[in-house]
Amino acid sequence: MDFDFSDEHKTIRQSAKSFASSVAPQIPEMDRNQTYDRKTILEMGENGFLGVCIPEQYGGAGLDYISLGLVSEEFEYVDTSLRVVMSVHTGLNSLGLLQWGTEEQKQKYLVPQAQGKRIATYALTEPNAGSDVASIETSAKKDGDSYILSGNKMWISLADTADQFLTFGYTDKSKGHRGISAFIVEREFKGVSTGSIKNKLGVRAGNTGFITYDEVEVPKANLVGKEGDGFKIAMSCLDNGRYTVAAGSVGLAKASYDAAVAYAKTRKTFGVEIGQHQLVQRLIAHMVRGIETAELLVYKAGWMKNVGRRNTKETALAKWHATNVASQCADDSIQIHGSYGYSGEYPVERYWRNARGARIYEGTDQVQEIIQARYALGYRDDKPLSHDLPRYKPT
Ligand SMILES: Cc1cc2nc3c(=O)[nH]c(=O)nc-3n(C[C@H](O)[C@H](O)[C@H](O)COP(=O)(O)OP(=O)(O)OC[C@H]3O[C@@H](n4cnc5c(N)ncnc54)[C@H](O)[C@@H]3O)c2cc1C
Repeated sequence: MDFDFSDEHKTIRQSAKSFASSVAPQIPEMDRNQTYDRKTILEMGENGFLGVCIPEQYGGAGLDYISLGLVSEEFEYVDTSLRVVMSVHTGLNSLGLLQWGTEEQKQKYLVPQAQGKRIATYALTEPNAGSDVASIETSAKKDGDSYILSGNKMWISLADTADQFLTFGYTDKSKGHRGISAFIVEREFKGVSTGSIKNKLGVRAGNTGFITYDEVEVPKANLVGKEGDGFKIAMSCLDNGRYTVAAGSVGLAKASYDAAVAYAKTRKTFGVEIGQHQLVQRLIAHMVRGIETAELLVYKAGWMKNVGRRNTKETALAKWHATNVASQCADDSIQIHGSYGYSGEYPVERYWRNARGARIYEGTDQVQEIIQARYALGYRDDKPLSHDLPRYKPT
């Protein structure tokens, strides 16, 4: 067993760290003003991050899935809004197209996404359907060589800036979740409109919004997989998105920890650094435990992706654990900072607000718990996927 990162991993980590550090100074103001910057996303693309684990033949850097985790971790060390781009563009959309797309779809959509020339996201959630995916109301009716798509999507990351949306809707409602299909929808298609959600608790330097599809004509060529594959596609995309959320949470936990350790060594009470007090030490020790265990789960899941093993259970566990660790570390970091942690003077209040959302999106805490319990009780047993994530092949 080898726990070392390779030289290639260390290089991509360093380059993600230096990119994220270069945008870090803008984050507090963007967070305060609830603004996002499309240019930053395009620069991520120019630097090769958006296609980090997409094979070179499809415009990517051809690195492995551990590298995807490392970029996510370093981005979220600076701000969750940066990592969210990796989650929706690369994890939930590009890897889904790599798994399920036709060669024509890969050339037309995946290549510009991997090169960072077109921004992509994933549109599943609706005003009346989140965890209960089969409750979505979006419909796609066949009409000659097209589908007519109508419906509303809600809480979609990058809704107001993405160029293309991997969208889920019913082609046959009578079949339940087996009647859901997946489509690539371009912003330019007539009938697509979007807007932003304001006053979110966290990820305020990132865009989250809604999409309205008003009788949008989607070419048949944009159906991903077959009619009725949509639920399976949505779930397999989540295996990849959750991995980036989990890896990002390790970064957020480390940022909270670093801030706590630095503060504990400067702030004095009762004549000593607060780090000398055992109850403060306990908070720090718990952070160490959480970060180390989250990291092990995350990179085990990344390794499983590299070797081509089904990893739904491991990725869900990593996501559940790492997001809770990040939440707890941010909370304890505020505690260690006392009132200063409660102010905008230190970044830890932003970490705390940002950490909270990851326990809701890409499967709530409760959904992750149900997944683990169902595996443990034998109510769920994975069969190999019909369209696996390609095993990593070094070039
Ligand atoms: C910042 C942010 C970004 C997002 N980005 C995207 C995106 O890019 N694309 C996208 O499609 N969606 C996105 N979402 C939506 C997110 O994935 C959903 O909000 C999430 O899946 C939960 O759905 P819901 O909010 O409808 O909650 P509900 O499903 O209504 O759940 C409400 C509560 O009930 C619990 N619950 C529900 N069912 C059960 C059950 N069977 N057993 C026990 N408890 C249960 C839940 O755990 C939760 O606590 C985003 C959300 C946020 C906050």
